[in-house]
Amino acid sequence: MPLPTVAIIGRPNVGKSTLFNRLVGKRLALVDDQPGVTRDRREGDANLLGLEFRVIDTAGYEDEDAATLPGRMRAQTEAAVREADVSLFLIDARAGVTPLDEEIARWLRSTDRPVVLMANKAEGRAGETGVLEAMALGLGDPIPFSAEHGEGVADLFEALLPHVDRDDEEPEEDPESPDAPLKLAIVGRPNAGKSTLVNRILGEDRMITGPEAGITRDSISIDYEWTDFEDKPRKVRLVDTAGLRKKARVEEKLEKLSVADTLRSIDFAEVVVLLLDATRGLEVQDLKIADRVLQEGRALIIALNKWDVAENASSLFNGVKGALDEGLAQVKGVPLLTVSAVTGKGIDTLMRVAFETREAWSRRVSTGQLNRWFERAIEANPPPAPGGKRIKPRYVTQNKTRPPSFVLFGTRVDLLPMSYQRYLINGLRREFDFGAVPVRLVLRAPK
Ligand code: GDP
Ligand code: GDP
Repeated sequence: MPLPTVAIIGRPNVGKSTLFNRLVGKRLALVDDQPGVTRDRREGDANLLGLEFRVIDTAGYEDEDAATLPGRMRAQTEAAVREADVSLFLIDARAGVTPLDEEIARWLRSTDRPVVLMANKAEGRAGETGVLEAMALGLGDPIPFSAEHGEGVADLFEALLPHVDRDDEEPEEDPESPDAPLKLAIVGRPNAGKSTLVNRILGEDRMITGPEAGITRDSISIDYEWTDFEDKPRKVRLVDTAGLRKKARVEEKLEKLSVADTLRSIDFAEVVVLLLDATRGLEVQDLKIADRVLQEGRALIIALNKWDVAENASSLFNGVKGALDEGLAQVKGVPLLTVSAVTGKGIDTLMRVAFETREAWSRRVSTGQLNRWFERAIEANPPPAPGGKRIKPRYVTQNKTRPPSFVLFGTRVDLLPMSYQRYLINGLRREFDFGAVPVRLVLRAPK
């Protein structure tokens, strides 16, 4: 199997050859203080703390003090980036971010190729401001590095690992994989029917590997398999069921929802089902819990239980729906389903929606797609100019999933009013089908 490839790119004199030499371990390359020394593209096999890969060095195609990317260097860089599994983009942390760095970054953001940003020459504490400046390039947090002194190697290893490690033995353990068990918590006030629902889910499924299975892991979860609509078994881990079962045995239940218990369940879960008792409707406490789930960044589904005995079903449903949209102002359209833990009706739909919701919650949007949408959104509705000062949003990147989180860069973007932030968040939601999962937006104005 061919080795994965890693390209080293960046403007002249940032330390590409020095890094190449460190990775390849042979003093092959000519290192020179003068930019513009002609060198050939070099390749070599690297071993970084046991990670093996092929390195391509793009140094040597630069013109003197070019203000824009010279043609040959551009072609060389672009070819290397396209060929490589991941690119190491170096800036000189002592010199700070230059217009040429910005130009390369802009191009990289448009390609959707994986990039690791490195702030080189950052040995000791030198280059701290350069490291900060590099954050604004929109390529993730830079790794402070010193190619000359070998500082930052462990961080580089970690950043390269997901791109370079080809014998991933336990793909199931990757929580981002759609095959990883869905971690589901069921919360709600006492008597909402949580225990009944859990028992129903487990009792219904012939695939259960025993009610105690999975308990070894954190002693409060039960693993089982739900068979989806295409007859495919899907793994589910019901979290915090131990507490549930114990409480179900207690004769006298306090008419109070334990926030601490709920928070613990939320901690472990990807998707939280808030169970309501349809015979009682939505109460203030339920909204508090729902709000908390969203604040914690978890995906939320609300299920009206005891639907088998609900009266005036449609007005009840619409009433709860309206109260939810009003009460949960920051996220409209949280899924509202009806179930009966006693008859089992609606449980399959609940599971399907839970898997769909996790998928949205874990979704990653490419930087290219994101910025195509972003430019349209800004054009359709330009940001305001508070106090006559123009706010200039420049670009947006997704820095995290689970929940989807985005960083918006630009001049004075920290002054964007809430209403405009909401406009962007709702746009993101619609454009990329995030539904009602919490979406986060962080504003970063350079300097
Ligand atoms: P390239 O043009 O990007 O390949 O850059 P070079 O590898 O030729 O390095 C340019 C200059 O920066 C040389 O003088 C290197 O010794 C110096 N250099 C490279 N890495 C570091 C570093 O980590 N710290 C410091 N202080 N200097 C470095
Ligand atoms: P928990 O405190 O949330 O765990 O609630 P339980 O599961 O103990 O249920 C409280 C009561 O509601 C019990 O008497 C259940 O039989 C009843 N119950 C639960 N789910 C349903 C349902 O879907 N329909 C009806 N009619 N009763 C239900």
